[in-house]
Amino acid sequence: MELLASIAAQGHEQVIAFQDPPSGLRGFLAIHSTRLGPALGGVRLMRYRGEADALADVLRLSRAMTYKCGLAELPAGGGKAVLLDSSALKRRRAFEAYGRIVQGLGGRFYTGGDIGIRPADLEAVGRATEWVARESAPELGDVNQCTADGVCAAMRACLEARGIELRGAHVAVQGVGNVGLRLARILAEAGCRLTLADVDAARVRRAARALGADVASPARIALADADVFAPCALGGVLNAGSIARMRARIVCGAANNQLATPADAARLARRGILYAPDYLANAGGVIRGAEYHLLGRADSRASIEAIGARMRVIAHRAARARTSTTAVANAMAQAIVRRGPPKG
Ligand code: NAD
Repeated sequence: MELLASIAAQGHEQVIAFQDPPSGLRGFLAIHSTRLGPALGGVRLMRYRGEADALADVLRLSRAMTYKCGLAELPAGGGKAVLLDSSALKRRRAFEAYGRIVQGLGGRFYTGGDIGIRPADLEAVGRATEWVARESAPELGDVNQCTADGVCAAMRACLEARGIELRGAHVAVQGVGNVGLRLARILAEAGCRLTLADVDAARVRRAARALGADVASPARIALADADVFAPCALGGVLNAGSIARMRARIVCGAANNQLATPADAARLARRGILYAPDYLANAGGVIRGAEYHLLGRADSRASIEAIGARMRVIAHRAARARTSTTAVANAMAQAIVRRGPPKG
């Protein structure tokens, strides 16, 4: 990858490669934009196939964070860090070393947890920097619940756009982990019919029993004969194969990077499937974290509910312009970032 050409094309402000030989730490940190405020971005620990994959991941994810924060009208920009996992990694020391790198950025980048990160890792980061969000403050509340509430707000807007009542709507939820289970609970209380799937068979059985839901196999859930498919597990679930065979008329869930490739946004639109862009639908947790840490707000319910209003606008504009909801959401986010912070 031509790094400078790539970051120029995607608009990143800064990309840092770092290593700390005593702890085995190796990784990348990308700041996509600080135009609206400090760049927010979790740190992810993963076994990548190689450096090029890790770099592509950090560039893509940091830009998505800019869009997520911009569209949510937060005083924050987008960043991300990825650490290359290996058997040589000395975990505590590695996260302390990562914390020193974050501290060196002097508050331009604010980090938190992501895939592969445990609470003890963030404690270690916090020994070296003040710019870390730990998810344990009681006043912060349940961030996973905030994410589920935001997905639900987006889903209600999508159902409305398709003329489907929430009560009685059939929703197929892929993944009943932190967010998926909370989403399923809200939907069950609202009178939805639920089909659930998870690779953890015991977990999905427990959830189905508690909520009176059906269970589908993880391989079939994306193709369920439901009104809504709600991906709450992994990325890349919306691809040429799944989109061609999908029966749901709406896709709205919490998973990051749901589209396998940018072309899949147009594929969904061509099939008439209304897609809630992932970074819009799953912004509830980031909204709560940013409002708590950056603005000291006690309550973010109205801001999270506003995800629904944005989804209504996006669905309307996409239908009018005969384009994908992703194209509309990207353009809206880019315009908000270009405009810069509100004056005064
Ligand atoms: P989690 O790990 O708690 O839950 C994921 C669940 O999906 C697990 O129960 C897992 O067993 C299941 N799963 C994994 N592979 C599966 C498959 N192939 N089919 C069916 N189920 C499968 O994660 P989470 O915190 O609930 O997050 C879910 C998704 O939402 C992730 O993509 C995450 O990046 C995204 N997200 C989460 C938040 C948040 O606040 N937690 C915020 C934004 C985005």
